[in-house]
Amino acid sequence: MESRYTPASIENKWQNTWAQQELDRTPESNNKPKFYALSMFPYPSGNLHMGHVRVYTITDVIARLKRMQGYRVLNPMGWDAFGLPAENAAIARGVRPDKWTYQNIDQMRQQLQSLGISFDWNREVTTCAPNYYKWTQWIFLQFFNAGLAYQKESAVNWDPIDQTVLANEQVDNEGRSWRSGAKVERKLLKQWFLKITDYADRLLSDLDELPGWPDRVKTMQANWIGKSTGAYLEFPILGRDDKIGVFTTRPDTVYGVTYVVLAPEHPLTLQVTTDERREAVEAFIKEVGQESEIDRTAEDKPKRGIPTGGTALNPFTGQEIPILIADYVLYEYGTGAVMGVPAHDSRDFKFARENGLPIKTVIVPENAENPDAELSDAYTEPGVMVNSGQFDGTPSEAGKQAIIDYAEAQGYGKARIQYRLRDWLISRQRYWGAPIPIVHCPECGAVPVPEDQLPVKLPDNVEFSGRGPSPLAQLDDWINVPCPSCGTAAKRETDTMDTFIDSSWYFLRYPDANNDNAAFDLGKINDWMPVDQYVGGIEHAILHLLYSRFFTKFLSDRLNLKFNEPFQRLLTQGMVQGMTYKNPKTGKYIPSDQILDLENPTDPESGEPLEVFYEKMSKSKLNGVDPLQVLDKYGADTARMFILFKAPPEKDLEWDDADVEGQYRFLNRVWRLVTDFAENASEIKAATNDNLSKPEKDLRRAVHTAIREVSEDLQGEYQFNTAVSELMKLSNALNDAKRTDSPVYAEGIETLLKLLAPFAPHIAEELWHLLGHSDSIHQQAWPEVDESALVVDEITLVIQVNGKVRGNIQVPADADKATLEALARESEAAKRHVGDKEIKKVIVVPKRLVNFVVPK
Ligand SMILES: [Zn+2]
Repeated sequence: MESRYTPASIENKWQNTWAQQELDRTPESNNKPKFYALSMFPYPSGNLHMGHVRVYTITDVIARLKRMQGYRVLNPMGWDAFGLPAENAAIARGVRPDKWTYQNIDQMRQQLQSLGISFDWNREVTTCAPNYYKWTQWIFLQFFNAGLAYQKESAVNWDPIDQTVLANEQVDNEGRSWRSGAKVERKLLKQWFLKITDYADRLLSDLDELPGWPDRVKTMQANWIGKSTGAYLEFPILGRDDKIGVFTTRPDTVYGVTYVVLAPEHPLTLQVTTDERREAVEAFIKEVGQESEIDRTAEDKPKRGIPTGGTALNPFTGQEIPILIADYVLYEYGTGAVMGVPAHDSRDFKFARENGLPIKTVIVPENAENPDAELSDAYTEPGVMVNSGQFDGTPSEAGKQAIIDYAEAQGYGKARIQYRLRDWLISRQRYWGAPIPIVHCPECGAVPVPEDQLPVKLPDNVEFSGRGPSPLAQLDDWINVPCPSCGTAAKRETDTMDTFIDSSWYFLRYPDANNDNAAFDLGKINDWMPVDQYVGGIEHAILHLLYSRFFTKFLSDRLNLKFNEPFQRLLTQGMVQGMTYKNPKTGKYIPSDQILDLENPTDPESGEPLEVFYEKMSKSKLNGVDPLQVLDKYGADTARMFILFKAPPEKDLEWDDADVEGQYRFLNRVWRLVTDFAENASEIKAATNDNLSKPEKDLRRAVHTAIREVSEDLQGEYQFNTAVSELMKLSNALNDAKRTDSPVYAEGIETLLKLLAPFAPHIAEELWHLLGHSDSIHQQAWPEVDESALVVDEITLVIQVNGKVRGNIQVPADADKATLEALARESEAAKRHVGDKEIKKVIVVPKRLVNFVVPK
C-alpha cells in the first residue's frame, strides 16, 4: 500500500536524527581536502525572510554536495548581533538590548533549523557575546599597536534638543531627528579611525587575484578605492611662508589656473582671510558646517563660494591669483584644496562664470583656428598646450609628464598617486557595540587596556533615554579607572566600534569558534582559510567585503598568515521579489490578501484599479511571503526546490505560488516513483553496461547523462536551476521505463535520490531508508559517470538529392524520422546541393537514407 508524502513529519524526524547523529559537525583535520562554505551571517531581527532562505539554501546545497564529493566541509552560522535596532528598542520600549537580541537569535535559530540547513551549530558565533567581542577588542589593539588606529576630529549628527549624537539611520530625509524631530546639526568630535588608506594600493591590485568574484563587484570596489594618477603642486601664498598644496590629474593645464579654492574647514582658511573679509568668511564656514557631505558634493547642486581676500601665486606664470573657499571642496578629500582651471574643467567653468573669475585657455584642439577665442563651455578634451610659456605646442598628454618634471626640478611639486578611499571612521557614540579598549590618561595619553583585562565589558546598569551623551558616557563608575600604565586617575573611552568591525573578521573565528585563549589558532585558520565559497547580497559589494579584505591583509602581515585574501569565490545572490499591488492614485500599497479578485485587482476601499508588478519583498511594500507559512504548507524541501529552480542564483527571483506548487508536485512524483519501486522490486543488484536490452541501455544512458549534467551544473558557476531540470528529466525517464525488475532501474532510482539529496535533503533521506539503507544518504559518495553508458550506437546515413547520392553522415542508430530529417538538412551535402532551392519533398528511410526532392 502506497504511503502519502507528508513533509511535516518527515522533515522534523530527520532534522532531529541528523542533530543526534551530529551529521553536520565539521570533521577535524584529516586527509580529505577542505571546503569552507560560508553564508553572510544575518542581523538577528527576529524573523527569517525569503532573502535569508535563498542565501542559506544556496550555500547548503554547495556544502552538502561537497561532503558527498569527499571534502571535509565547514558550513557555519552566526549572528551579526550588535547595532542600532536593539538600542532603539531599548529606548522606545524599555527592553534591554542583550535580552532583545538573544530572544531574536533563539527564534531565528529555530526557524533556520526547520529549513534543514546543514550548519555546524557547535561553531555558532555571536558578535555581541563577550567571548567574541573580547577578540574584536584584541584586534583593535593590534591596529593600535601597529599605528593604524588613531584619533581625529570629525563631524557627527547632533540633535540639539536631546543633546545627543545620532546615527545616520536616526536622521530622516529632511534632516530631522527620529525621536525629537529637531533639525540635526553637524558637530566636530574627536573620533577613532582605522588607516585603511595604507592598504589602498594592495586592496586595488589584489582584485586581479580574485577570478572567482563577479566582475561587477570588483569594479565597484575599484571605483570605491578610486586611484588617480597626477601631480601634487604647491602655490605660494602672498605675504606668508606657507603654500597651498593641491592634487590634480591635469598638470598640463597649470598655466590656466586663475584661482585656488580651500575647503572652509582647511586650517589655512582663517589665516589667509583678510580683515575686511573675516566676517563673511566666518559666516560662510558656519553655514557650510551644517550641510552634509552628500549635499555639498551633489552633482546637480549649484556650487557656492566666496573670496577670502587672500592671494596666492601661480608659480608657473608668476601671476597673482585669488584664494577662495567653497562648499564643494572637502577637507577630508585629498589636500583639502583645489586649483581652479575654468577653461578646462566643467565645474570650474560654471563656478568662474558665476563668480566673475578669469577664464584662460591653455589647451586647444590640434590645428585650432583661433586659440584665444572665447569659450562657451570648458574644453576638456586632450589637445595642444598654448599660453603655456616654454610648453607651447606640446601635446597635452605628453605635457602632463613634462610639467611634473619641470615642477620637480623647480621645487613646485611632484608626481603623486591619490585615492578616493579615506580612512575608516569606526567610532560610534552608542551603547550596543564593542567598547573601544582604550583608557585616556592625562599623563600618558591614549593607553591600550592590557590584554589580560579584556574584554572591556559593556556595563549592565544603563539607562536608555535617547537623551544626552551616549549611555556609556553617563556612567561615572564605569568611566573612571586608574591608568593601566602609570596609575593616575584616568577615563575609559566611551565610544563603541562600528558593527562593520565585528563582521570584518567573523569568518576567522569559525575555524576555532570556542577558543578562550585566542581569537583563533593560527594552524586552524591557515588550514581552513580562505573561504572557498562565500554567498551573500550585492549590497555588501563594497563596505563589508572591502573591510574584510583589509582586516585579512592586516592580520596576515602582522601574524604571518598563509593567506591574504579572505574569500576565494563569491556568489552574490539576486533578490527575492514579490507580486506588489499599488494604487497609483494614492501611492498606497495593498497586501494581496485584502484583494478580492487577483485577476482584476482593485483597491478594497475605493474600488480604483491597482498597478501590479514585481518588486523586492519588503515590509513597506506589503509584498512579502512568510517563509514559515510556506514551510507549513509544503515543507522545507519544496521551498528549497522552488528557490533553486526558479532563477539562476545571481538573478532576481520572482515569487510565484504556481511554481511552488509545481515543485511540490515534482517531489510527490519522486515519492510515488520510489515507493512503487520499493514495493515491487526484488533485490537491488549493481548495474553494468553488459548484456543490456535496448530499453535498458537507453535508460542507463539517461541515468548517466543526468549524473554528468547535474555535476557540471554544480561545478563552479552553480546553475541550480538547470540541475533541477535534469533531475526532472531523469525522473520522467524512470517513470516512462517502468522496468522495476531491472538492475538499471534500481541504479536509476538510487542515482536520482543521491543527485536530489543536496537539494531536497529530507525526502531524499526518507526514500533512501525506504530502499532498505541504514546509513544516511548524505554520507554517500556523489555518483560517478560511467562513460561507457553514454555511448550511442551510430550508423551511416546516406544523403541523396533527387535520388543521387551526395554524401553521408553518422547518426544515432535509434534516431526517429524527424531527427534524421533535421540532421540531414544540416549536413554539408544538403547545404551544397540543395542550397536555397525549395524542397518539394523529403523521403526518409530509417537506418538508411534521406532523399531531398528539389526543382531541377
Ligand atoms: Zn598614565
